[in-house]
Amino acid sequence: MTSFEDLPIRDDLRGQKPYGAPQAHVRVELNVNENTHPVPQAVVDDILARTKTALATINRYPDREFTALREALAKYLGHGMRAENIWAANGSNEIIQQLMQAFGGPGRSVLGFPPTYSMHPIIAKGTGTEWLTAERDAYFEISPETAVATIREQKPDIAFFCTPNNPTGTVVGHDELRNFLQAVPSNVLVVIDEAYVHFQTDTDAARGLELYREFDNVAVLHTFSKAYGLAGLRLGYAVAREDVRDGLEKVALPFGVTDIAQAAGVKSLEVEAELQDRIDVLVAERDALETYLATTEWNAPLSQANFVWLPAGATTDALQEHLMSRGIIGRAFSGDGIRISIGSPEANASLVAALQAWQG
Ligand SMILES: *Cc1c(COP(=O)(O)O)cnc(C)c1O
Repeated sequence: MTSFEDLPIRDDLRGQKPYGAPQAHVRVELNVNENTHPVPQAVVDDILARTKTALATINRYPDREFTALREALAKYLGHGMRAENIWAANGSNEIIQQLMQAFGGPGRSVLGFPPTYSMHPIIAKGTGTEWLTAERDAYFEISPETAVATIREQKPDIAFFCTPNNPTGTVVGHDELRNFLQAVPSNVLVVIDEAYVHFQTDTDAARGLELYREFDNVAVLHTFSKAYGLAGLRLGYAVAREDVRDGLEKVALPFGVTDIAQAAGVKSLEVEAELQDRIDVLVAERDALETYLATTEWNAPLSQANFVWLPAGATTDALQEHLMSRGIIGRAFSGDGIRISIGSPEANASLVAALQAWQG
């Protein structure tokens, strides 16, 4: 048999690591920011009813343009949003890939602000887009001055803002991002990845949809995977001006969103109130955990997402092992820290007990 090295893998992918969240199954799984609360049975039943209808025609390809879903999303988002400005895909990761395929690619570059979502550089790599980075200020903040200066200097084609940011949970201020957008050249496509925006309670934090309405070069990404607790459905969407959406459509695989995901997505928007209750519970749990962390030496940044960041630095691997020995798994970034998703009250109590034991 030939070895992997003999195969015509692209040179720039040799030695490259794939997405690395562990899939270990332990008692308390807090490693991939899923909504740890299962979807309420009534909602499951509702979604099932809609899905049943979709199944009757499953011998056919789904609506290639997922019109009903886009119309439902436009109505749900309000403010005169039009279906033309919405594009959906098999998870918002796939939209990130489409964005880089259409607006990045060989000879182009995308700028991000690490530490940030680990898939942004992985997708950049996969699409042959150069990944550029800019410094953050103290406490993971991004100042408009630094961001604008970096963009003028590095001249990326795309800039990614993840707010609330994965893995730190920190947000970019609305006014800061607005100042940035006013100063940055309008030929830079600014993507605001708002996967966690539904957990955001800070009224000064960036509101991507408002910025999209004000600036032509903004695209906003949302997902059903986190707050809505539908990670297994694989559904995410972008809000962008029509020609940006056109670009995504040019590179998208046909029939990328299944009939079942389209139907379940529409239904889940109708039962949003029930899903919102669970978000409120998670936000309360997050705030309780933050209150506890504020009494410790962790120096954890304030999180607006459904996870917290423990900057464990050189002790990250040892801390992860300590948590694992207690049946808890977070997402360790060796040398930097551990991101821990907010779970049930019991899961969070286990976490606090484990952290107390660690600090002695
Ligand atoms: C989870 C996540 C996504 C993608 O989620 P999908 O499941 O692909 O919709 C996108 N951006 C960030 C920052 C995330 O954390």
